[in-house]
Amino acid sequence: MKILVTGGSGQVGYELQRQLCILGEVHAPNRAELDLTDATAVDKWLGGHQPELIINAAAYTAVDKAEEEPELARRLNAELPAQFAEYSAMRGQWLVHYSSDYVYPGSGETPWQEGDGTGPISVYGQTKLEGDEAVQQSGCAHLIFRTSWVYSARGHNFMKTMLRLAREREALRIVGDQIGVPTTARLIAEVTLLAVKQRGEGRLEPGLYHLAPRGETNWHGFAQAIFRHAEALGETLQVKPDQVVSIATANYPTPARRPLNSRLSLEKVEQALGITLPNWESQLQLTLAELLEDA
Ligand code: NDP
Repeated sequence: MKILVTGGSGQVGYELQRQLCILGEVHAPNRAELDLTDATAVDKWLGGHQPELIINAAAYTAVDKAEEEPELARRLNAELPAQFAEYSAMRGQWLVHYSSDYVYPGSGETPWQEGDGTGPISVYGQTKLEGDEAVQQSGCAHLIFRTSWVYSARGHNFMKTMLRLAREREALRIVGDQIGVPTTARLIAEVTLLAVKQRGEGRLEPGLYHLAPRGETNWHGFAQAIFRHAEALGETLQVKPDQVVSIATANYPTPARRPLNSRLSLEKVEQALGITLPNWESQLQLTLAELLEDA
């Protein structure tokens, strides 16, 4: 099977290339080889290479910058998945696409279910929702995985920023009232592999699934856990876990608003795939070990 993975230099795309290579020929053109903002170039690439499965992990993920660049965010987060969905629908193929907890408004204190109403409060969230809707309305069989707070040993993410700041500073103030679940790119890729295999055997229904580890935390709790586990792995940090001060979102203004409640219900994906997702903290330990032991 010929597979196109977009966003191969990104967190999820990189892990997907590692996982999916056992399924066939994986093509992951980088930005220089295929600029995804160029719709004509994308059509030409698809026509020339004729992938049998598209896994779209490319996105405009700079949440604050998206407020200034809504058209660029819309091209990558909404029009691009629509283009892939149209190609896949015409050929009777499946499309795998990734979405975000930021499509929800962030109200309440219970986990969002896949059927709940959306209500993004940022340009990023709005454009991701438009992408989901375009895929759903295209008529192509699809898997959309809505995930949250993605990080990995590679790329730019909260875990790596925290480790850098904890080496440079003596105290940190981190938002403590946004609740969600940190998700490793590797877990997303592992579950995607399983889903694509089950789909190939006709055992998985198309549709929208949440995908994250079990448990919940907030950014302050995530930072404390990063420092605690990094120290246990022998890392020397200036900031100790109890020197991380919890602040309210209201005291940390950013260009884009963030949802306070990003909890995602995981029942649907666990039942569909017959899996029990791991707890987020065990995933953090593994990812820190990968980062710090390789350093
Ligand atoms: P990254 O930001 O790590 O990677 C984005 C990828 O898209 C990079 O490979 C980037 O390439 C590529 N890309 C962006 N613009 C272009 C372009 N014009 N041409 C070619 N390639 C381009 O994203 P993640 O892996 O973190 O995210 C994967 C998915 O998960 C996305 O759908 C995202 O919306 C979703 N998600 C992510 C969350 C997060 O916290 N990061 C949270 C919830 C959902 P380059 O390296 O050249 O920039």
